[in-house]
Amino acid sequence: MGGSEMADRGTSEAARAATEALAEAGVRAVALAMVDNAGVTRVKCIPLRRLEEVTRLGVGLSYVFSVFLVDDQITSTPSLDGPSGDMRLIPDPEACVALDAQPGWAWAPVDQYDQDGNVWPACGRSFLRRMVDRLARLEIELRCAFEVEWFLGRREEPDPVPSHRGPGYSAVVLTPYSGFAVDLIDALEAEGLGVQQFHPEYSIGQFEVSVAHRDAVGAADENLLVRQTIRGVAARHGLDASFAPVVFPGAVGNGAHLHFSLWDADRGDLLVGGAGPLGMTEQAEAFVAGVLAELPALSAVICPSEVSYLRLQPHRWAGAFTCWGPENREAALRFITGMVGSRDAATNVELKSIDAAGNPYLVVGSVIAAGLAGMDQGLRLPPPITEDPAGLPEEERAAKGIERLPASLGEAVERMEESAVLREAMGDLLFDSFLATRRAEHEASRDRKEEDLVRAHRWRY
Ligand code: GLU
Ligand code: MG
Repeated sequence: MGGSEMADRGTSEAARAATEALAEAGVRAVALAMVDNAGVTRVKCIPLRRLEEVTRLGVGLSYVFSVFLVDDQITSTPSLDGPSGDMRLIPDPEACVALDAQPGWAWAPVDQYDQDGNVWPACGRSFLRRMVDRLARLEIELRCAFEVEWFLGRREEPDPVPSHRGPGYSAVVLTPYSGFAVDLIDALEAEGLGVQQFHPEYSIGQFEVSVAHRDAVGAADENLLVRQTIRGVAARHGLDASFAPVVFPGAVGNGAHLHFSLWDADRGDLLVGGAGPLGMTEQAEAFVAGVLAELPALSAVICPSEVSYLRLQPHRWAGAFTCWGPENREAALRFITGMVGSRDAATNVELKSIDAAGNPYLVVGSVIAAGLAGMDQGLRLPPPITEDPAGLPEEERAAKGIERLPASLGEAVERMEESAVLREAMGDLLFDSFLATRRAEHEASRDRKEEDLVRAHRWRY
């Protein structure tokens, strides 16, 4: 494999160590997990015995998975339009984890390569790594964590049976599900994820769990692992989990809010201790301003499903407007300082508009790309917004530069098509194949009733 990008990986020793540790934990099979451009997690599985070999040679998957749609239809782009071609899924042995709720199984995120050992240009995880590297050249690390909201219930036709109907955050809801909850917390902790909080959430059948922040690729990997663990624990309790943006038409949906902060080895959290707004350093302000400026185009990545736009509404704490503000739950970007005494380490920004239809690698990679563009241009933030942007008269919103985020996937696609920042960062193949899938899903949704759309997406994520 001389000369290929695989040659530098030096993964054999890590694969041997992972195989030994997993065997000791009783693992017999490994699910290799990749997320496609539609946000669907696809798996190919191997016996543990093959992990070492597969870490070098990968397992095959057709290139067309870069143009797969949420309903398993396949679209095309000029360069991805036929049955020929094979990519290799190469697991990351250092990110393999024994699944606590699926005894005998381990979970491994993958990178996608071609058969010559070069990174497949539409590989989301490699895209994220490239963005992390760009930030590292400025000696900055993005630390982040996804909040995970989901619907818990039973998948029974014609409609799912919700686990609860509220009250949100209540002891009434917790009590009958406390067995499920403690099993979930145990499983996540056994997998090495630092659980921060768990609660019954606001919407019908909804719960939420959050985990500790970490490096960008690790946080995206972990987001998949958290979701798989929730599915696994739910299955053991005879329940089903859905991460779809909206599970019932008209109800508050499932968000996948991303909390992020920027770290410098010497200066610490760059959101703190500067002369910018609310104490941000100049670099952090420019990064956040870059994300804010790119938000309409980013919508196609962070709210990529047709049903994402049924969730992304005012008054749902879903971040439907392009503004930022301290602890403002209606702003797309909520600035969070946390409790006095912890602020040097806890201050972060929460991007609320994201939902779990978003491929977490593309989501975090695109956020970094937007932030880097902001730093490159030395952008400054507009004044913070503390009120509900939906409550402001339209002229005042316009005067303050507050925009309603796209109201449909079609509109989001149009905004992304214009984004030089995202095209340059993703590269043509990833950018074009991603947009092709979004256009195709939007086309397929035309003239479909809300109810029908929600049903079609309910159990896909
Ligand atoms: N479920 C809301 C959403 O769709 C978020 C509620 C919250 O702020 O936790 O994003
Ligand atoms: Mg929540």
